[in-house]
Amino acid sequence: MRIVYLDNNATTAVAPEVREAMEAYFTAEYFNPSSAYDRASPAAQAIKRARETVARFLGAVELSEILFTSCATESLNTALYGAVRANPTRRHVITTAVEHPAVYEVCKDLARSGLDVTFLPVDRAGNLDLGAFIQALRRDTLIVAIMHANNETGVIFPIEQLARITKETDPAILFLSDATQTAGKLPLDLCGALRHVDLLAFSGHKLHAPKGVGVLFMRRGAPVRPFMIGGHQEGGRRAGTENVPYIAGLARAVELAQEDHDAVEARIRQLRDRLETGLLASIPCVEVNGQGAPRLPNTCNISVHFIEGEGMLYQLNEYGICASSGSACTSGSLEPSHVLRAMQVPFTAVHGSVRLSLSRYTTDEDVAHALEVFPRIVANLRRLSPYWDSAHDRPRPESEAMMRGT
Ligand code: PLP
Repeated sequence: MRIVYLDNNATTAVAPEVREAMEAYFTAEYFNPSSAYDRASPAAQAIKRARETVARFLGAVELSEILFTSCATESLNTALYGAVRANPTRRHVITTAVEHPAVYEVCKDLARSGLDVTFLPVDRAGNLDLGAFIQALRRDTLIVAIMHANNETGVIFPIEQLARITKETDPAILFLSDATQTAGKLPLDLCGALRHVDLLAFSGHKLHAPKGVGVLFMRRGAPVRPFMIGGHQEGGRRAGTENVPYIAGLARAVELAQEDHDAVEARIRQLRDRLETGLLASIPCVEVNGQGAPRLPNTCNISVHFIEGEGMLYQLNEYGICASSGSACTSGSLEPSHVLRAMQVPFTAVHGSVRLSLSRYTTDEDVAHALEVFPRIVANLRRLSPYWDSAHDRPRPESEAMMRGT
């Protein structure tokens, strides 16, 4: 069966060029980069080159500002818990109600352990209220943790502006951004537009490197205690023998993302727009979550009213289409997405939400297949839905009330 992969915000395929760049460090150059003998030197050199590549990519001033980790989750946990441990006198944290769990759950954990955490709300399009942000900054604010773009909706936050306001208010407040969905997609210039950002994290596997490697940018002098303690790797700030092949792969992925960036982005945007416009035109009662807000060019999050996202995913899967829904099936119960709930998407629409996310490998044929299959699936599911009056091809009155969330 033809597989159409439209779940690139979950993970991406490893690029052949990345696999090639990693190969030698699994085989001939398997040595421990910390070993003193000459044979280990290619492994150590590979890490040095990778650090230079990532530092250039991020506009880091010093190589020591780049830490290689196992994933974005580790980078974000390190930044948040490490900042709290290094600054015991400041007890206030600002974040948003729509962060990925790698930040959201950590902030909830910090709140449980006695810190005061402000979860900034978003509006119906997913935008933050700048006024509310400015009001939230306090004398005892320790860190602001705001993502660059949302993984579910693709909505982009103006972190340049938010970081600048933070530093103008109090230069001692740390600004952390989760750039997991933007690395390789949006410019990340930490000595230019993002010069007020202290800490920034991303994972390799969202930009065609393998799972199991991530980056934490830590601006020189940022007070953050290490999370992984042990050996002296990464300048003593992240212990553990380096994952040489994956670090080399991540650096190659970063290069690839820059090589033909504009052309790739334009093509992805055009495919996403075609997909989105086609779905809106062919399926009644559909809305785009995040519409009207600045959004990533590869992400389409739609709510299909009167049916369950899980049912749609199951059917899409039958046709070889990989996507994800706004409900996570956890311990047998359908947990609606905290992101869509924070955007005040009506209950039925949250349950009927599907995220389709594209990459450089998405083709015209993939989009055509999705556009052919998706409306049929929705029509079939709606025929079975008690809320949908198929005879008239329009919602029943009680369903309309549900759609309004009343
Ligand atoms: N932050 C965002 C915005 C993400 O999308 C993800 C993964 O989906 C993460 C953090 C966590 O990444 P990882 O699972 O690679 O640690």
